[in-house]
Amino acid sequence: MRIVFVSNRLPIVAERGDEGWTTHASAGGLVTALAPLLKRWGGMWIGWAGTAELQGAELAAATREFGERVGYDVAAVPLSTEDYGFFYQGFCNEIIWPLFHDLQSFCNFVPEYWTSAHKVEEAFADVVERNVGPDDLLWIQDYHLMGLGQTLIRRGLRNKLAFFLHIPFPPPDIFCKLPWRLDVLKGLLHYQVIGLQTRHDLNNLSDCVHALLPAAERQEGASELRFEIEGRESIAGVFPIGIDFDEFAGVAATSAVEQQVAEMRQSYAGQQIILGVDRLDYTKGIPYRLRSFGRALERYPELHRKTTLVQIVVPSRETVPEYQNLKGEIERLVAQINGKYTQPGWVPIHHVFRSVERQELLAWYRLADVGLVTPLKDGMNLVAKEYCACQIDMNGVLVLSEFAGASERLGSAAVLVNPYDIDCVAAAIPLAIIMTPEERRPSMEKLRTVVRVENVYWWLGQFLQACGVALNGKMSPTTAGPAGEPAG
Ligand code: UDP
Repeated sequence: MRIVFVSNRLPIVAERGDEGWTTHASAGGLVTALAPLLKRWGGMWIGWAGTAELQGAELAAATREFGERVGYDVAAVPLSTEDYGFFYQGFCNEIIWPLFHDLQSFCNFVPEYWTSAHKVEEAFADVVERNVGPDDLLWIQDYHLMGLGQTLIRRGLRNKLAFFLHIPFPPPDIFCKLPWRLDVLKGLLHYQVIGLQTRHDLNNLSDCVHALLPAAERQEGASELRFEIEGRESIAGVFPIGIDFDEFAGVAATSAVEQQVAEMRQSYAGQQIILGVDRLDYTKGIPYRLRSFGRALERYPELHRKTTLVQIVVPSRETVPEYQNLKGEIERLVAQINGKYTQPGWVPIHHVFRSVERQELLAWYRLADVGLVTPLKDGMNLVAKEYCACQIDMNGVLVLSEFAGASERLGSAAVLVNPYDIDCVAAAIPLAIIMTPEERRPSMEKLRTVVRVENVYWWLGQFLQACGVALNGKMSPTTAGPAGEPAG
Protein backbone atom coordinates (compact mmCIF):
# COMPACT_ATOMS: atom_id res chain seq x y z
CA MET A 1 0.00 0.00 0.00
CA ARG A 2 1.47 3.37 -1.04
CA ILE A 3 1.24 6.13 1.56
CA VAL A 4 0.10 9.58 0.53
CA PHE A 5 0.96 11.99 3.30
CA VAL A 6 -1.04 15.24 3.36
CA SER A 7 -0.08 18.19 5.55
CA ASN A 8 -0.68 21.91 5.61
CA ARG A 9 2.94 22.59 4.61
CA LEU A 10 5.23 20.63 2.35
CA PRO A 11 8.69 19.91 3.78
CA ILE A 12 10.03 22.50 1.34
CA VAL A 13 11.65 25.87 1.81
CA ALA A 14 11.31 27.76 -1.51
CA GLU A 15 13.41 30.88 -2.11
CA ARG A 16 13.58 33.25 -5.06
CA GLY A 17 17.10 34.23 -6.08
CA ASP A 18 18.70 35.91 -9.10
CA GLU A 19 18.55 32.61 -11.01
CA GLY A 20 14.87 31.94 -10.21
CA TRP A 21 13.36 29.70 -7.55
CA THR A 22 15.41 27.24 -5.53
CA THR A 23 14.15 24.73 -2.98
CA HIS A 24 15.61 22.80 -0.11
CA ALA A 25 14.15 20.41 2.47
CA SER A 26 12.99 21.83 5.77
CA ALA A 27 14.32 20.29 8.98
CA GLY A 28 12.35 18.45 11.65
CA GLY A 29 11.80 15.04 13.20
CA LEU A 30 8.73 14.20 11.14
CA VAL A 31 10.48 14.90 7.83
CA THR A 32 13.48 12.83 8.91
CA ALA A 33 11.27 9.90 9.89
CA LEU A 34 9.00 9.98 6.88
CA ALA A 35 11.50 10.61 4.10
CA PRO A 36 13.03 7.09 4.08
CA LEU A 37 9.59 5.51 4.32
CA LEU A 38 8.20 7.53 1.42
CA LYS A 39 11.32 6.82 -0.60
CA ARG A 40 11.26 3.09 0.05
CA TRP A 41 7.55 2.64 -0.56
CA GLY A 42 7.30 5.15 -3.38
CA GLY A 43 5.07 7.45 -1.39
CA MET A 44 3.97 10.99 -1.95
CA TRP A 45 3.70 14.20 0.10
CA ILE A 46 0.96 16.74 -0.66
CA GLY A 47 0.80 20.23 0.88
CA TRP A 48 1.26 23.95 0.40
CA ALA A 49 4.73 25.04 -0.73
CA GLY A 50 4.93 27.90 1.78
CA THR A 51 4.61 30.82 -0.61
CA ALA A 52 1.77 32.15 -2.76
CA GLU A 53 4.28 33.80 -5.11
CA LEU A 54 5.22 30.46 -6.60
CA GLN A 55 2.32 29.42 -8.86
CA GLY A 56 1.45 27.61 -12.11
CA ALA A 57 4.22 26.10 -14.22
CA GLU A 58 6.96 27.46 -11.94
CA LEU A 59 5.37 25.76 -8.93
CA ALA A 60 5.01 22.45 -10.80
CA ALA A 61 8.62 22.59 -11.99
CA ALA A 62 10.01 23.47 -8.55
CA THR A 63 8.11 20.68 -6.77
CA ARG A 64 8.97 18.12 -9.48
CA GLU A 65 12.64 19.02 -9.24
CA PHE A 66 12.48 18.87 -5.42
CA GLY A 67 10.76 15.47 -5.56
CA GLU A 68 13.43 14.07 -7.89
CA ARG A 69 16.12 15.29 -5.52
CA VAL A 70 14.60 13.88 -2.31
CA GLY A 71 13.45 10.61 -3.87
CA TYR A 72 9.69 10.69 -3.37
CA ASP A 73 6.80 12.39 -5.19
CA VAL A 74 5.69 15.81 -4.08
CA ALA A 75 2.57 17.70 -5.15
CA ALA A 76 1.87 21.30 -4.18
CA VAL A 77 -1.54 22.79 -3.44
CA PRO A 78 -1.73 26.23 -5.05
CA LEU A 79 -3.30 28.78 -2.69
CA SER A 80 -3.70 32.53 -2.99
CA THR A 81 -2.27 34.80 -0.29
CA GLU A 82 -5.81 35.81 0.68
CA ASP A 83 -7.09 32.23 1.01
CA TYR A 84 -4.06 31.15 2.94
CA GLY A 85 -4.36 34.20 5.18
CA PHE A 86 -8.00 33.58 6.07
CA PHE A 87 -7.47 29.84 6.42
CA TYR A 88 -4.09 29.71 8.17
CA GLN A 89 -3.89 32.98 10.10
CA GLY A 90 -7.65 32.98 10.66
CA PHE A 91 -9.29 29.57 10.97
CA CYS A 92 -6.17 27.69 12.11
CA ASN A 93 -4.31 30.24 14.23
CA GLU A 94 -7.15 32.39 15.58
CA ILE A 95 -9.69 29.64 16.21
CA ILE A 96 -8.56 26.03 16.34
CA TRP A 97 -5.07 26.59 17.81
CA PRO A 98 -6.16 28.63 20.86
CA LEU A 99 -9.40 26.67 21.41
CA PHE A 100 -7.71 23.26 21.34
CA HIS A 101 -5.11 24.61 23.80
CA ASP A 102 -7.93 25.55 26.24
CA LEU A 103 -7.41 29.28 25.61
CA GLN A 104 -10.80 30.25 24.20
CA SER A 105 -10.37 33.91 25.17
CA PHE A 106 -7.74 34.12 22.40
CA CYS A 107 -10.26 32.91 19.80
CA ASN A 108 -11.70 35.10 17.09
CA PHE A 109 -14.75 33.28 15.72
CA VAL A 110 -15.05 35.05 12.36
CA PRO A 111 -17.63 33.29 10.11
CA GLU A 112 -15.57 33.99 6.96
CA TYR A 113 -12.70 31.95 8.39
CA TRP A 114 -14.91 28.87 8.34
CA THR A 115 -15.89 29.56 4.71
CA SER A 116 -12.23 29.91 3.76
CA ALA A 117 -11.37 26.63 5.51
CA HIS A 118 -13.84 24.88 3.18
CA LYS A 119 -12.36 26.60 0.16
CA VAL A 120 -8.87 25.49 1.11
CA GLU A 121 -10.08 21.93 1.77
CA GLU A 122 -11.50 21.87 -1.76
CA ALA A 123 -8.14 23.04 -3.13
CA PHE A 124 -6.38 20.24 -1.21
CA ALA A 125 -9.00 17.74 -2.42
CA ASP A 126 -8.37 18.75 -6.06
CA VAL A 127 -4.68 17.90 -5.74
CA VAL A 128 -5.34 14.69 -3.80
CA GLU A 129 -7.87 13.51 -6.42
CA ARG A 130 -5.41 14.15 -9.25
CA ASN A 131 -2.59 12.25 -7.58
CA VAL A 132 -4.02 9.40 -5.56
CA GLY A 133 -4.28 5.77 -6.71
CA PRO A 134 -7.19 3.52 -5.66
CA ASP A 135 -5.13 1.48 -3.17
CA ASP A 136 -3.23 4.36 -1.56
CA LEU A 137 -3.51 5.01 2.16
CA LEU A 138 -4.14 8.71 2.72
CA TRP A 139 -2.59 9.91 5.96
CA ILE A 140 -3.70 13.45 6.79
CA GLN A 141 -1.87 15.51 9.38
CA ASP A 142 -3.04 17.83 12.08
CA TYR A 143 -5.71 20.34 12.97
CA HIS A 144 -5.52 22.36 9.75
CA LEU A 145 -7.03 19.54 7.71
CA MET A 146 -9.48 17.88 10.11
CA GLY A 147 -12.30 18.23 7.56
CA LEU A 148 -10.41 17.06 4.47
CA GLY A 149 -11.44 13.41 4.89
CA GLN A 150 -15.11 14.29 4.72
CA THR A 151 -14.57 16.47 1.64
CA LEU A 152 -12.79 13.60 -0.11
CA ILE A 153 -15.53 11.12 0.75
CA ARG A 154 -18.18 13.57 -0.48
CA ARG A 155 -16.31 13.66 -3.79
CA GLY A 156 -16.54 9.88 -4.03
CA LEU A 157 -12.99 8.90 -3.03
CA ARG A 158 -12.96 5.41 -1.53
CA ASN A 159 -9.41 5.36 -0.22
CA LYS A 160 -8.42 4.35 3.29
CA LEU A 161 -8.22 7.50 5.38
CA ALA A 162 -6.11 8.04 8.49
CA PHE A 163 -5.56 11.20 10.53
CA PHE A 164 -3.17 12.31 13.28
CA LEU A 165 -3.77 15.28 15.56
CA HIS A 166 -0.49 16.77 16.80
CA ILE A 167 -2.16 19.24 19.17
CA PRO A 168 -4.38 18.46 22.18
CA PHE A 169 -8.08 17.61 21.85
CA PRO A 170 -10.14 19.75 24.24
CA PRO A 171 -12.86 18.65 26.67
CA PRO A 172 -16.55 19.23 25.76
CA ASP A 173 -16.93 22.46 27.79
CA ILE A 174 -14.28 24.05 25.60
CA PHE A 175 -14.92 22.26 22.31
CA CYS A 176 -18.60 23.30 22.47
CA LYS A 177 -17.60 26.98 22.17
CA LEU A 178 -16.76 26.27 18.53
CA PRO A 179 -19.65 27.60 16.38
CA TRP A 180 -19.12 24.71 13.92
CA ARG A 181 -18.61 22.06 16.57
CA LEU A 182 -20.92 19.46 15.04
CA ASP A 183 -19.44 19.82 11.56
CA VAL A 184 -15.89 19.56 12.88
CA LEU A 185 -16.61 16.54 15.06
CA LYS A 186 -18.58 14.72 12.38
CA GLY A 187 -15.85 15.59 9.87
CA LEU A 188 -13.26 13.96 12.10
CA LEU A 189 -15.30 10.78 12.34
CA HIS A 190 -14.96 10.30 8.59
CA TYR A 191 -11.41 9.02 9.16
CA GLN A 192 -11.08 5.29 9.70
CA VAL A 193 -8.10 5.74 12.01
CA ILE A 194 -7.63 8.77 14.28
CA GLY A 195 -4.34 9.15 16.15
CA LEU A 196 -4.05 11.31 19.26
CA GLN A 197 -1.07 12.20 21.43
CA THR A 198 -2.37 11.17 24.87
CA ARG A 199 -4.96 9.13 26.69
CA HIS A 200 -6.31 12.43 28.01
CA ASP A 201 -6.97 13.63 24.44
CA LEU A 202 -8.65 10.33 23.60
CA ASN A 203 -10.94 10.67 26.63
CA ASN A 204 -11.78 14.25 25.61
CA LEU A 205 -12.67 13.13 22.10
CA SER A 206 -14.85 10.38 23.53
CA ASP A 207 -16.62 12.84 25.86
CA CYS A 208 -17.25 15.25 22.97
CA VAL A 209 -18.74 12.47 20.84
CA HIS A 210 -20.89 11.41 23.79
CA ALA A 211 -22.08 15.00 24.39
CA LEU A 212 -22.65 16.09 20.80
CA LEU A 213 -23.36 12.92 18.85
CA PRO A 214 -25.39 10.71 21.18
CA ALA A 215 -26.46 8.55 18.22
CA ALA A 216 -22.86 7.45 17.68
CA GLU A 217 -22.02 4.05 19.12
CA ARG A 218 -18.88 4.01 21.26
CA GLN A 219 -16.97 0.90 22.18
CA GLU A 220 -13.99 1.12 24.49
CA GLY A 221 -10.98 -1.18 24.10
CA ALA A 222 -7.90 -1.37 26.32
CA SER A 223 -6.15 1.39 24.43
CA GLU A 224 -8.46 2.49 21.67
CA LEU A 225 -12.02 3.63 21.07
CA ARG A 226 -14.32 2.62 18.25
CA PHE A 227 -17.02 4.94 17.06
CA GLU A 228 -19.79 4.00 14.66
CA ILE A 229 -21.95 6.64 13.07
CA GLU A 230 -24.03 6.71 9.89
CA GLY A 231 -22.66 3.29 8.92
CA ARG A 232 -19.01 4.36 9.17
CA GLU A 233 -16.53 3.09 11.73
CA SER A 234 -13.61 5.07 13.17
CA ILE A 235 -10.96 3.78 15.51
CA ALA A 236 -9.13 6.30 17.70
CA GLY A 237 -5.91 5.42 19.51
CA VAL A 238 -3.02 6.96 21.44
CA PHE A 239 0.33 7.42 19.64
CA PRO A 240 2.67 9.83 21.46
CA ILE A 241 5.02 11.31 18.89
CA GLY A 242 8.75 10.89 19.50
CA ILE A 243 12.06 12.29 18.29
CA ASP A 244 15.07 10.76 16.56
CA PHE A 245 16.76 9.97 19.89
CA ASP A 246 19.94 8.45 18.46
CA GLU A 247 20.51 11.44 16.23
CA PHE A 248 20.14 13.93 19.10
CA ALA A 249 22.23 11.87 21.53
CA GLY A 250 24.87 11.21 18.84
CA VAL A 251 25.30 14.85 17.85
CA ALA A 252 25.28 15.93 21.52
CA ALA A 253 28.26 13.61 22.05
CA THR A 254 30.35 15.01 19.17
CA SER A 255 33.53 16.91 19.89
CA ALA A 256 32.09 20.05 18.24
CA VAL A 257 29.21 20.15 20.75
CA GLU A 258 31.51 19.13 23.58
CA GLN A 259 33.81 22.04 22.81
CA GLN A 260 30.91 24.48 22.65
CA VAL A 261 29.64 23.18 26.01
CA ALA A 262 33.11 23.64 27.51
CA GLU A 263 33.20 27.25 26.32
CA MET A 264 29.73 27.89 27.70
CA ARG A 265 30.73 26.34 31.04
CA GLN A 266 33.63 28.75 31.24
CA SER A 267 31.36 31.74 30.65
CA TYR A 268 28.96 30.46 33.31
CA ALA A 269 31.57 29.28 35.83
CA GLY A 270 30.01 28.63 39.23
CA GLN A 271 26.48 28.89 37.82
CA GLN A 272 23.66 26.38 37.48
CA ILE A 273 21.89 26.87 34.16
CA ILE A 274 18.13 26.65 33.83
CA LEU A 275 17.01 26.40 30.20
CA GLY A 276 13.76 27.32 28.46
CA VAL A 277 13.38 26.79 24.68
CA ASP A 278 10.14 27.81 23.03
CA ARG A 279 8.59 29.20 19.91
CA LEU A 280 7.09 32.64 20.57
CA ASP A 281 3.59 31.40 21.43
CA TYR A 282 1.14 32.19 24.21
CA THR A 283 0.56 28.47 24.81
CA LYS A 284 4.17 28.07 25.97
CA GLY A 285 3.59 30.00 29.21
CA ILE A 286 6.77 32.10 28.94
CA PRO A 287 5.50 35.09 31.01
CA TYR A 288 4.33 32.73 33.80
CA ARG A 289 7.74 31.05 33.70
CA LEU A 290 9.58 34.37 33.97
CA ARG A 291 7.36 35.46 36.87
CA SER A 292 8.05 32.12 38.56
CA PHE A 293 11.80 32.63 38.17
CA GLY A 294 11.43 36.18 39.54
CA ARG A 295 9.50 34.75 42.51
CA ALA A 296 12.23 32.15 43.08
CA LEU A 297 14.87 34.91 43.19
CA GLU A 298 12.72 36.86 45.65
CA ARG A 299 12.04 33.88 47.93
CA TYR A 300 15.36 32.05 47.71
CA PRO A 301 18.26 34.55 47.81
CA GLU A 302 20.70 31.63 47.90
CA LEU A 303 20.01 31.35 44.13
CA HIS A 304 21.52 34.82 43.52
CA ARG A 305 24.79 34.77 41.57
CA LYS A 306 24.54 30.96 41.35
CA THR A 307 21.65 30.49 38.93
CA THR A 308 20.99 31.81 35.43
CA LEU A 309 17.88 31.29 33.35
CA VAL A 310 18.67 31.04 29.64
CA GLN A 311 15.40 31.58 27.80
CA ILE A 312 15.55 30.96 24.06
CA VAL A 313 12.51 32.30 22.21
CA VAL A 314 12.22 31.43 18.53
CA PRO A 315 10.35 34.16 16.58
CA SER A 316 7.01 32.94 15.22
CA ARG A 317 3.78 34.41 13.74
CA GLU A 318 5.12 37.91 14.43
CA THR A 319 2.57 39.66 12.23
CA VAL A 320 -0.27 38.56 14.55
CA PRO A 321 -1.05 41.20 17.24
CA GLU A 322 -1.25 38.64 20.12
CA TYR A 323 2.26 37.47 19.29
CA GLN A 324 3.60 41.05 19.13
CA ASN A 325 2.04 41.74 22.54
CA LEU A 326 3.56 38.57 23.91
CA LYS A 327 7.01 39.58 22.67
CA GLY A 328 6.62 42.97 24.40
CA GLU A 329 5.45 41.32 27.64
CA ILE A 330 8.43 38.94 27.67
CA GLU A 331 10.86 41.82 27.08
CA ARG A 332 9.29 43.88 29.89
CA LEU A 333 9.44 40.99 32.36
CA VAL A 334 13.05 40.16 31.50
CA ALA A 335 13.99 43.84 31.92
CA GLN A 336 12.13 44.10 35.25
CA ILE A 337 13.68 40.98 36.76
CA ASN A 338 17.17 41.73 35.47
CA GLY A 339 16.81 45.36 36.58
CA LYS A 340 15.94 44.23 40.10
CA TYR A 341 18.50 41.48 40.65
CA THR A 342 21.52 42.02 38.37
CA GLN A 343 24.85 42.34 40.21
CA PRO A 344 28.38 42.85 38.89
CA GLY A 345 29.27 39.61 37.08
CA TRP A 346 25.74 38.16 37.17
CA VAL A 347 22.66 38.81 35.03
CA PRO A 348 19.86 36.44 36.13
CA ILE A 349 18.04 36.03 32.77
CA HIS A 350 19.74 35.65 29.40
CA HIS A 351 17.06 36.20 26.80
CA VAL A 352 17.88 34.89 23.32
CA PHE A 353 15.30 36.02 20.76
CA ARG A 354 16.24 34.22 17.56
CA SER A 355 16.36 30.81 16.02
CA VAL A 356 19.56 29.09 17.18
CA GLU A 357 21.75 26.82 15.08
CA ARG A 358 21.25 23.13 15.75
CA GLN A 359 24.72 22.60 17.21
CA GLU A 360 24.25 25.51 19.60
CA LEU A 361 20.80 24.25 20.63
CA LEU A 362 22.21 20.82 21.44
CA ALA A 363 25.04 22.41 23.40
CA TRP A 364 22.50 24.34 25.50
CA TYR A 365 20.51 21.12 26.07
CA ARG A 366 23.64 19.30 27.17
CA LEU A 367 24.87 22.12 29.38
CA ALA A 368 21.62 22.88 31.20
CA ASP A 369 21.28 21.60 34.77
CA VAL A 370 17.53 22.10 34.63
CA GLY A 371 15.21 21.91 31.62
CA LEU A 372 12.29 24.17 32.51
CA VAL A 373 9.44 23.11 30.20
CA THR A 374 6.25 24.75 31.40
CA PRO A 375 3.71 25.21 28.59
CA LEU A 376 0.17 26.10 29.64
CA LYS A 377 -0.93 23.32 27.29
CA ASP A 378 0.94 21.37 24.61
CA GLY A 379 0.13 18.45 22.33
CA MET A 380 3.43 16.77 23.21
CA ASN A 381 6.38 19.23 23.56
CA LEU A 382 9.40 17.91 21.73
CA VAL A 383 11.79 20.24 23.56
CA ALA A 384 11.25 18.12 26.72
CA LYS A 385 12.27 14.97 24.80
CA GLU A 386 15.20 16.64 23.03
CA TYR A 387 16.53 17.91 26.36
CA CYS A 388 16.51 14.37 27.79
CA ALA A 389 18.11 12.89 24.65
CA CYS A 390 21.00 15.40 24.86
CA GLN A 391 21.56 14.81 28.59
CA ILE A 392 24.24 12.25 27.85
CA ASP A 393 26.01 13.07 31.14
CA MET A 394 22.68 12.38 32.89
CA ASN A 395 23.10 15.28 35.25
CA GLY A 396 20.03 17.29 34.30
CA VAL A 397 16.59 17.60 35.89
CA LEU A 398 13.43 17.95 33.82
CA VAL A 399 10.84 20.29 35.34
CA LEU A 400 7.73 19.61 33.28
CA SER A 401 4.26 21.08 33.00
CA GLU A 402 1.52 18.62 33.86
CA PHE A 403 -0.36 20.06 30.85
CA ALA A 404 2.26 19.06 28.28
CA GLY A 405 1.37 15.85 26.44
CA ALA A 406 4.90 14.66 27.27
CA SER A 407 3.94 14.47 30.96
CA GLU A 408 1.78 11.38 30.36
CA ARG A 409 4.84 9.22 29.66
CA LEU A 410 7.60 11.27 31.35
CA GLY A 411 5.74 12.65 34.36
CA SER A 412 6.79 10.02 36.90
CA ALA A 413 10.50 10.76 36.42
CA ALA A 414 10.23 14.55 36.03
CA VAL A 415 9.46 17.28 38.55
CA LEU A 416 5.84 17.93 37.58
CA VAL A 417 4.42 21.43 37.99
CA ASN A 418 1.27 23.39 37.32
CA PRO A 419 2.62 26.20 35.08
CA TYR A 420 -0.09 28.61 36.29
CA ASP A 421 1.06 28.16 39.90
CA ILE A 422 3.87 30.70 40.21
CA ASP A 423 4.73 29.70 43.79
CA CYS A 424 4.84 25.99 42.87
CA VAL A 425 7.15 26.54 39.86
CA ALA A 426 9.28 28.94 41.96
CA ALA A 427 9.65 26.24 44.64
CA ALA A 428 10.55 23.58 42.03
CA ILE A 429 13.59 25.62 40.92
CA PRO A 430 15.70 25.35 44.13
CA LEU A 431 14.38 21.79 44.55
CA ALA A 432 15.88 20.84 41.18
CA ILE A 433 19.04 22.88 41.73
CA ILE A 434 19.98 21.22 45.02
CA MET A 435 19.45 17.67 43.74
CA THR A 436 22.72 15.74 43.90
CA PRO A 437 24.15 13.87 40.89
CA GLU A 438 23.11 10.61 42.64
CA GLU A 439 19.52 11.82 42.77
CA ARG A 440 19.50 13.20 39.22
CA ARG A 441 20.92 10.22 37.38
CA PRO A 442 18.21 7.58 38.01
CA SER A 443 15.42 9.94 36.96
CA MET A 444 17.27 11.05 33.85
CA GLU A 445 18.00 7.41 32.98
CA LYS A 446 14.29 6.60 33.18
CA LEU A 447 13.38 9.62 31.07
CA ARG A 448 15.98 8.77 28.46
CA THR A 449 14.78 5.16 28.26
CA VAL A 450 11.24 6.26 27.44
CA VAL A 451 12.44 8.85 24.92
CA ARG A 452 14.83 6.34 23.31
CA VAL A 453 12.31 3.51 23.02
CA GLU A 454 9.31 5.63 22.04
CA ASN A 455 11.18 7.49 19.32
CA VAL A 456 9.80 8.89 16.09
CA TYR A 457 10.33 5.60 14.20
CA TRP A 458 8.45 3.70 16.92
CA TRP A 459 5.62 6.25 16.61
CA LEU A 460 5.47 5.80 12.85
CA GLY A 461 5.54 2.01 13.18
CA GLN A 462 2.83 1.96 15.84
CA PHE A 463 0.55 4.20 13.82
CA LEU A 464 0.99 2.36 10.55
CA GLN A 465 0.62 -1.00 12.25
CA ALA A 466 -2.65 0.19 13.78
CA CYS A 467 -3.76 1.39 10.34
CA GLY A 468 -2.90 -1.96 8.81
CA VAL A 469 -4.80 -3.89 11.44
CA ALA A 470 -7.78 -1.52 11.50
CA LEU A 471 -8.09 -1.33 7.76
CA ASN A 472 -7.96 -5.10 7.45
CA GLY A 473 -11.03 -5.19 9.61
CA LYS A 474 -9.59 -6.44 12.89
CA MET A 475 -8.17 -4.20 15.56
CA SER A 476 -6.58 -5.89 18.50
CA PRO A 477 -6.43 -3.81 21.68
CA THR A 478 -2.69 -4.33 22.03
CA THR A 479 -1.79 -2.96 18.60
CA ALA A 480 -3.56 0.38 18.83
CA GLY A 481 -0.71 2.09 20.66
CA PRO A 482 0.45 2.45 24.24
CA ALA A 483 -2.22 2.72 26.87
CA GLY A 484 -0.32 5.54 28.52
CA GLU A 485 0.99 3.78 31.59
CA PRO A 486 3.39 6.01 33.47
CA ALA A 487 7.08 5.67 32.73
CA GLY A 488 9.52 3.97 35.02
N1 UDP B 1 13.74 24.53 17.57
C1 UDP B 1 14.04 25.12 16.37
N2 UDP B 1 14.84 26.24 16.38
C2 UDP B 1 15.33 26.77 17.52
C3 UDP B 1 14.99 26.17 18.73
C4 UDP B 1 14.18 25.04 18.72
O1 UDP B 1 13.62 24.64 15.32
O2 UDP B 1 16.03 27.79 17.46
C5 UDP B 1 12.90 23.30 17.52
C6 UDP B 1 13.13 22.32 18.64
O3 UDP B 1 14.30 21.58 18.40
C7 UDP B 1 11.85 21.51 18.61
C8 UDP B 1 10.82 22.47 18.02
O4 UDP B 1 11.53 23.63 17.64
O5 UDP B 1 11.98 20.39 17.74
C9 UDP B 1 9.74 22.84 19.02
O6 UDP B 1 8.87 21.76 19.15
P1 UDP B 1 7.82 21.67 20.34
O7 UDP B 1 7.06 20.40 20.17
O8 UDP B 1 8.51 21.82 21.66
O9 UDP B 1 6.88 22.93 20.15
P2 UDP B 1 6.09 23.52 18.87
O10 UDP B 1 6.90 24.70 18.45
O11 UDP B 1 6.02 22.43 17.84
O12 UDP B 1 4.75 23.93 19.41
